[in-house]
Amino acid sequence: MKKLLLLLAIATTLFPDLPETASSSFADDDKAPDLIIINAKVHTVDPKNEEADAVAIRDGRFIAVGSNRKIRGLANRKTRLIDAEGRLILPGFNDSHAHLEGIGNLFGSADLRSARSEDAFRREIERITEFLPEGVWIQGGRWDPSLLESALKPSKEWIDAVSPKHPALLYSSDPSIALVNSEALRLARISKGTNGPAGGEIVKDENGEPTGVLKGNSLQLVRNFLRVTSFQERSIQIETATNYAAAYGVTSLQDVSTDDNMDVITVLDREGKLKARIYECGGLKDWAKYAEQGLKAATGTPMVRTGCLKTFTDGNADTIPDLYERIKGADKAGLQVTIHAIGSRSNRYVLGLYERVIMENGYRDRRFRVEHAQSLSSAEIPLFAKFGIIPSMQPYLFRGSGPYRSLLRTGARIAFGSDASITNIDPLLGISVATERKPGPNSEKLTVEEAVRFYTLGAAYAEFQENEKGSITVGKLADLVILSDDIFEIGPSEIRNVKVLTTIVGGRVVYKAPVRQ
Ligand SMILES: [Zn+2]
Repeated sequence: MKKLLLLLAIATTLFPDLPETASSSFADDDKAPDLIIINAKVHTVDPKNEEADAVAIRDGRFIAVGSNRKIRGLANRKTRLIDAEGRLILPGFNDSHAHLEGIGNLFGSADLRSARSEDAFRREIERITEFLPEGVWIQGGRWDPSLLESALKPSKEWIDAVSPKHPALLYSSDPSIALVNSEALRLARISKGTNGPAGGEIVKDENGEPTGVLKGNSLQLVRNFLRVTSFQERSIQIETATNYAAAYGVTSLQDVSTDDNMDVITVLDREGKLKARIYECGGLKDWAKYAEQGLKAATGTPMVRTGCLKTFTDGNADTIPDLYERIKGADKAGLQVTIHAIGSRSNRYVLGLYERVIMENGYRDRRFRVEHAQSLSSAEIPLFAKFGIIPSMQPYLFRGSGPYRSLLRTGARIAFGSDASITNIDPLLGISVATERKPGPNSEKLTVEEAVRFYTLGAAYAEFQENEKGSITVGKLADLVILSDDIFEIGPSEIRNVKVLTTIVGGRVVYKAPVRQ
């Protein structure tokens, strides 16, 4: 059966000259999908249409969700086809709590301090180049020559195979000695005939070829290429972050850092470099500036939005004396406010301020949020639902210890996220711990369906996007993941080993897992 479907797939995608009679039975070009995915187990997170076999996508949105037969019938000869081979499809994950610059920094610098072998060098460079945009310099290093076995001498060949498109400058523990790769030598025009400047050495092998090791002043030949502006640096960090997100099936990121990176994100979007949609939060202290610009909650395009303002509280009213005024001003301007709170005291303080503002500014769909909402006491739990406040929770960061069931019982709308770069971004880790039974009498474990919903539709609701994404529904943005295994059929502890095979954002494949030999 699989083979037959595969043959059909090849037939529709590779034989454009099908006989007239065949093509005339297809839908006309104006309405035919750009992409169909068939032979899948589609878990839609849409209560009206929970399961399906196939989806059709056109202009970045789902245009049909249903049986293989129905979806095949919509395709014409221009339609691209993906055979999911029976695998599980979920809506793309939405991480309601991530720090994009921090994620970028994870891959900004190589750490070779404990490297003892060629293999260790290669693995660390591979870790970085997996997500660092092409052409960007790999820096860092600090390799210790005394840790390498006496016969081992670092050379460009150690890292060339894993960095053909990234120049590298890797310092040793002595900063006057560094290893560079062939791409760096090429950019710096260092070759057989190049002599090092006075006070520097270009180390060469017995044939006179540069080995990649540079000493003293010769490092300057390469250093000249490293300068980047702060704009470029932030741009690299955020592009790296969306590359990383795509590999874990995260198609939407809510950047809850308080720096405003809209300048960079807007340019990356225009250049087509974003692999995930971004909701960019700024600092609550800057609320008046946002209000003056007329920005409101979730202002922007499906790809890039702003209008959320974030701050922290330790529950002490003296720490930010005008916190109440800031929330009230931002809320009055139509902006979304989110506050980090861990501990019962901090949560009670934030919920109290929110309640006052709601009473003062009057009812509207404002979706105040509490980031973490961790260590709640029974007094705070019902207040989330009562005031429409969103607990934005990170199951993996807190080892699944949130009072999820108690919140759900009161009617709260939970959003899930990771807090990457502090943690791994992988939503399947979060789903795994949130669905595991914890020791103790009041285990608050979720079903896999619930955990998936909070990581998709719940997180979309937290950014006012539940009508645009979060479920596989006709009319919504075509963001989805194909997983290696069916997480509804295995135990929670196995869910953490499941891999994302394909990530699609707006009908575009942004990640495909490498085929393992
Ligand atoms: Zn955080």
